[in-house]
Amino acid sequence: MSIANTKNCYICPICEYYGSFESVKPESGERKYAQCPKCGSLERHRLQYLVFKEITKDADIKTMSMLHFSPENFFRNIFKTMFKTYVTADLNSKNVDRREDLTKLLISDNAFDFIYASHVLEHIKDDMSALSEINRVLKKNGTAIISVPVIGKYTIEYDKPNPHEYDHVRCPGDDYYERYKFFFTKIRIYKSTDFDEKYQPYVYEDRSSWPDTMPSRPSVPGEKHIETVPVCFK
Ligand SMILES: [Zn+2]
Repeated sequence: MSIANTKNCYICPICEYYGSFESVKPESGERKYAQCPKCGSLERHRLQYLVFKEITKDADIKTMSMLHFSPENFFRNIFKTMFKTYVTADLNSKNVDRREDLTKLLISDNAFDFIYASHVLEHIKDDMSALSEINRVLKKNGTAIISVPVIGKYTIEYDKPNPHEYDHVRCPGDDYYERYKFFFTKIRIYKSTDFDEKYQPYVYEDRSSWPDTMPSRPSVPGEKHIETVPVCFK
C-alpha cells in the first residue's frame, strides 16, 4: 500500500489536486473517496481521463474532432482546448451545441474522430440503435469511449426506467460490452488496475445489499470494485 493510500490522499489527474477525496451519497449508498473536491470528478472520470491520455499520447489531436455526448463540465473545459473541432450534444440539456437523440443523430456519416459518451447508454432502452449511430458518425479508424456502470456478472434489463437510479433502464454487467462487438472492429477494456492507485480510480461501495428502491441490482461482495472503460475502434 502506498503512502498516499494510508492517508487517504490522492492525486486528481484532471485538475492535479492533491489531498483527500470526498464521499458521495447517491440513493444507492455511500461511495468513499469518490469525488475530487476541486474539480468534482468521480472515480470513473479519473479513470476515463487516464485512459484518454494513454490512447492519445501519440495522436495529433489538435487536428481532430470530438463529439461529446452529455458533457461533464471539467472535461468540456479541457477537451475544447485540445481538439480542432469540439461539439457537445445532449437530448435534454440546453447548455450544449446540439440537441440530439443518440439513437437517431442528425449528423452525417464519418463526421468525428472521437466520440465520448460516459454513463449514457444505461439511460437508453434502444442501446443497439445508439451504438449503431455512434459507429455511423465515427470516422474510419475513429475511437469511441462509451462507459456504463457495470455491477455484477450479467446485465439486467428493467421493465421501466428506475427514477431512483437517475432513470436507468438496465443494470449493466460484465457481459454488457459484448453488445459493442456487433458494431466495432476492436474493443479494448481498460480497468482501474491498469493505473496507479494514487489517482483513486476504484469504486469503494457496499454492493452486498442495495436499497429496496433498486431491487434488480445484483449483490456483489467486497467494498473495493474495479471500474471499466471500453475503448471502441471503428
Ligand atoms: Zn480534480
